[in-house]
Amino acid sequence: MGLVGTLRDALAGIVGDANVMAADEARVHYANDQYWYAIAATGAGQPVSRPDLAVRPSRTEQVAAIVRLANEHRVPITPWGGGSGVQGAANATEGGIVVDLRGMQRVRSIDQKSLTCIVEAGLACRDFEAQLNPMGLSFTHYPASAEWATIGGSIAARGSGVLSTKYGKIEEHVLSVEWVTPTGEIVNTPNVPRHAAGPELTQLLVGAEGTFGIVTAANVKLHLLPKHRVFSVFAFANQSDGVEAGRRIMTTGLKPPVMRLYDVHAAAHSLARAVEMPLDKPTLVMMFDGEYPELVELEAQIASKLCRELNGIELPPSIGALWWDRRYVFYYPPYAPELPSIWGTIDVVADFEHIETVYTATTTAIRAACPTEYNLSLNTHFSHWYEWGSMIYARMKVPKGPDRLEDAKALHDRIIKAGVEAALEAGAVINDHHGVGMRLAPYMQAQYGDGMLALQRIKAALDPNDLFCPGKLSL
Ligand SMILES: Cc1cc2nc3c(=O)[nH]c(=O)nc-3n(C[C@H](O)[C@H](O)[C@H](O)COP(=O)(O)OP(=O)(O)OC[C@H]3O[C@@H](n4cnc5c(N)ncnc54)[C@H](O)[C@@H]3O)c2cc1C
Repeated sequence: MGLVGTLRDALAGIVGDANVMAADEARVHYANDQYWYAIAATGAGQPVSRPDLAVRPSRTEQVAAIVRLANEHRVPITPWGGGSGVQGAANATEGGIVVDLRGMQRVRSIDQKSLTCIVEAGLACRDFEAQLNPMGLSFTHYPASAEWATIGGSIAARGSGVLSTKYGKIEEHVLSVEWVTPTGEIVNTPNVPRHAAGPELTQLLVGAEGTFGIVTAANVKLHLLPKHRVFSVFAFANQSDGVEAGRRIMTTGLKPPVMRLYDVHAAAHSLARAVEMPLDKPTLVMMFDGEYPELVELEAQIASKLCRELNGIELPPSIGALWWDRRYVFYYPPYAPELPSIWGTIDVVADFEHIETVYTATTTAIRAACPTEYNLSLNTHFSHWYEWGSMIYARMKVPKGPDRLEDAKALHDRIIKAGVEAALEAGAVINDHHGVGMRLAPYMQAQYGDGMLALQRIKAALDPNDLFCPGKLSL
């Protein structure tokens, strides 16, 4: 019996025969995540993800046993959550074993007094929310991919939901993790995240994209499900005024869960389509929420006053309510992009000092990188605001790329390279919440500089056999 056969039997001994898939089945189920190139490669019959085996554990001890087995035989491991990542991180490019965490979906406990919850890594965000809402609770992490994205995948990719401006990115939701290290130990990080008991180990796992081991469960923060929501929408003749309105809202301590400033292209195309109303100016959609109606109203009124001071033109708040109702629709069929299109997002972050230069440099570079015959469209918005800056989400689409996969990839890579390098040059970081994956790995050195050596040393110490997601994050 060859190595794969030996592993298959050993894995079946750990998780049961029904929870192990051989290569023929695994290569269909785990052929690609949602990275455009991974989808295109599958479409061309050359999938980038080629696991030799896939396994679906249901307990932490099983995960640890799988990891120890992989170490014994020096076989690569790739954790898999919902497979919704858009950067290619979950693809088993070096073969080996895919560990699908969706066998671990339990809510282990809820502390109604502290508003915290221990939840297993494989539960999808939408399903978690569905369990919490009837109790008047919310996880408040609402990625557009909530249907697929798991808790573990959100932590691993350092994700963000549409309410992040008030409730925070995933790193703010996570208090501690249960972690199977790359050598198979089960570790629980300190369950109180605000401490002076040394460095914060939990955060080492956030954004590690599986390279530092497997998150099997997390203790996360919950919130009360908001009782009141108020929308406010403004158009600006000049985008800079919209950015300045956002800056004043954030720096004076207002907390809109949603604040999305669409540039003129995104307003006229994506937003106008969502709200079924013609829009021809940069448009700011805001939502305020909370327990106390007076406070929610007051926050919305003050934010609206700041917008008016910057010549914002008030639009019907019903636009915001409609946007909220339809916020996920355009990510799914029949609206989601399909082959032979090329699509992708460059989501970069910058402080207020650099944000407008980053916007101009990035969008100009993306447009310039694509020959005009390909009719590139680019819709950009600012969302996920912070007290010091904001994210720029530049969504590009080429309706039909070159026929040959290599040529289509070359065009995609050229556009991404131009956008990412321009953003870096103008003072941004390469990503806000989609992670690095295969797509941005070439830019990690430029992003981290000498810091890369520290990351590589941490990786070498934690994963001496280099089994976890080899090559990912440029580690
Ligand atoms: C239509 C659409 C909309 C999207 N909208 C958003 C959005 O609004 N916000 C956002 O942040 N992202 C969004 N994304 C991207 C994607 O959903 C996120 O990156 C998400 O966090 C990935 O979760 P997942 O469970 O699918 O992880 P996967 O794609 O399966 O894996 C992502 C990475 O995490 C690793 N991993 C997975 N689980 C674990 C674990 N338990 N332990 C250790 N490593 C693990 C994998 O190895 C891989 O490196 C969107 C994607 C799509 C397709």
